[in-house]
Amino acid sequence: MISVRQALEIVLRDLPRLGSEEVPLRASHRRVLAAPIRAARDVPPFRNSAMDGYAVRATDVSTASPSSPVALSVLEVIGAGSVPTRPVEPGTATKIMTGSPLPTGADAVVRVEDTQELDARVSIRAAVAAGTNVREPGEDMHAGDTVLNPGRTLRPADVGLLASLGITAVRVARRPRVAILTTGNELVEPGDPLGPGQIVNSNAYTLAAAVEEGGAEPIMLGIVRDQPEEIRAAFADAFTADMVLSTGGVSVGTFDFVRRTLSELGYQERFWKVAQKPGKPVTFGLREGTPAFGLPGNPVSSLVCFYVYVLPALRTMMGTERVYLPSVEATVTTDVSTAAGLTEFVRCVVTRDGGHYQVRPTGSQSSGVLSSLSSGEGLLVAPPEEERIARGSRARVILLGGDSSTEPPL
Ligand code: AMP
Ligand code: MG
Repeated sequence: MISVRQALEIVLRDLPRLGSEEVPLRASHRRVLAAPIRAARDVPPFRNSAMDGYAVRATDVSTASPSSPVALSVLEVIGAGSVPTRPVEPGTATKIMTGSPLPTGADAVVRVEDTQELDARVSIRAAVAAGTNVREPGEDMHAGDTVLNPGRTLRPADVGLLASLGITAVRVARRPRVAILTTGNELVEPGDPLGPGQIVNSNAYTLAAAVEEGGAEPIMLGIVRDQPEEIRAAFADAFTADMVLSTGGVSVGTFDFVRRTLSELGYQERFWKVAQKPGKPVTFGLREGTPAFGLPGNPVSSLVCFYVYVLPALRTMMGTERVYLPSVEATVTTDVSTAAGLTEFVRCVVTRDGGHYQVRPTGSQSSGVLSSLSSGEGLLVAPPEEERIARGSRARVILLGGDSSTEPPL
């Protein structure tokens, strides 16, 4: 059986790259940039004040202090959005607001707190060096600079940066369309009555949410019965998508037809079974270049396989370099026994004490117990050579919900 690392290498090796599309600026958040962004202009576009205060010539106020202020006559008052009409000459100043263009002649701004207004004059009570409180054109971005590189997942600050450059349309990676089908005679949709022996199809909904979280677009193909003909028809349909995910029917049960049916459709299986727990019977392959994962039916197994293999695959297809979930070193706060010979992903509660992460299992590690994944925020990665992780030892933990905390940062 191959290892998790080998399986991941195989998955990432031959994936297709998707093309790009142009989206309006407002739709660019969380999308993966597909072309470099160059600044076509300076930001800010003109020299302006960083403070509410007085634009002065630094030499005029070089001796100013609270005990020996310097008086200047005020030429005009300029708000942001207005343009100064008079140059600042020796002995004069312009009252100026944050963001107002600097008048010619002025080379510094004295903040209003260091001044006192006297009718048409101002008393300056602090010296400033040339350049103080002045924002130069291009201080943020210079015309010609490459400011964002392809492969970046756009965050709010990036969107703002694009806006400040006047960009209204952004070239981003196309979102992979991911067909999701779930196999099993026992499955009914949420809301439908449960007959004897039946359970609700939760996997389709878990995976659709995970696909969305990964920046891709789920296509729900519903429940497929454990019959080769029905499975074949569903997969034939599914392969029009950019990636196919199925759950169930990949193990060694009498009614596990997925792999056989897939190969009849021309699917080239790259692996089946990985030395891991949960999720051992996962299969991956390609059909005419389109990747497909046959995920195990157990709810935890399918989601763990999603996080470990499918998410990096989706991100690779979108051209992003940061394909993995974040992981941290954590101290294990209770003894954990783990499967020998398998990489075990142990569902965990992750807490932080100062700068240190601590981790403990959420409870039952049965692959059918989805609540144990819901109640934790991490997957402890127990290596195959370990059978027991002793309390107090350090372990690597993949963070699943690492984007929020109940702990204030200070
Ligand atoms: P299988 O991989 O088809 O042998 O299924 C393994 C276990 O997962 C069985 O207990 C199934 O009932 C359960 N299962 C399969 N598909 C789903 C699904 N879509 N939603 C929830 N549980 C499922
Ligand atoms: Mg099944």
